[in-house]
Amino acid sequence: MKKYACVLFDLDHTLWDYEANAEETLRELFARFRMEERGVTSFRFFHETFRRVNLDLWDRYDRGLIGQDVIRTERFTRVFYDTGVDDVRAALEFSARYLEELPLKKSLLPHAREILDYLHPRYPMTIVTNGFDEIQTTKIQSAGIGHYFRQVVTSQRAGSKKPSRKIFEFALRQSGHTPETAVMIGDNLQTDIAGADAAGIDTIFYNPAQTPHQARVTHEITTLEELRRLL
Ligand SMILES: [Mg+2]
Repeated sequence: MKKYACVLFDLDHTLWDYEANAEETLRELFARFRMEERGVTSFRFFHETFRRVNLDLWDRYDRGLIGQDVIRTERFTRVFYDTGVDDVRAALEFSARYLEELPLKKSLLPHAREILDYLHPRYPMTIVTNGFDEIQTTKIQSAGIGHYFRQVVTSQRAGSKKPSRKIFEFALRQSGHTPETAVMIGDNLQTDIAGADAAGIDTIFYNPAQTPHQARVTHEITTLEELRRLL
C-alpha cells in the first residue's frame, strides 16, 4: 500500500451526515411553520420534494450553471410551490431558518469519529468542501471535529470549487504537500473523485450505497472503517 503524506476529506455525505441532519432540521421547521395547516399533510411528501429540488439545485451548482445565491433563494420557494403552498415570503423565511439551523446539527456518518481518531495522529488532514464558508465551518464545530483538521478549504476561500483542480492545488499549497503524496476521500464521483484525479491526486471513493460506476478510482470503500486497512 502506498504511503501518503496527507489526507484530504470531503465533508457533506462523507463525514457530516447531511441526510440525517437535513431531515431533522426540516422536521422541526415543518412543525414550527405549521405546514400541515398550510395544506401539506405529509412530512414525507415535503421531505421528498425537498430532496428532489435540493439535488437538482446542487447538481446545477456543481456544473457551474447557477451560483450559491440561487440555491438560497430558489430552494424553498420551489419546495413550497411544488407542495402547493403559495407564500413566497414564508418560503424565504423558512430558507433563512434552514440555513441557520442545519449547520448546528451534529450527526456524523457511521464510524466517522473513530476513523478520524485513528487517522489524526498519522496524517495531517484537510477538509476540501464546496459550500457556504460560514456554514461549513459551523457544521465542523457543531459536530466537534474541528480539532482533527489542520485546515478547512472551502470553495469560497480557494476562489474555485470542486471539481476544478485549482481548489485541490490551493489546499496542497497551503499545507505544503505535493499531489503525488496526497489522497482525497469523498462520496461524489464528479466533484471529489474526477476533480482530485485531474489534479494528480489519488482517490478513495466512499460509496456506501454501492452504486455501480465506470469512473477511475484508486480505491473504493463502502464504510469509513475500511480506511484503517488503506491508510
Ligand atoms: Mg460530499
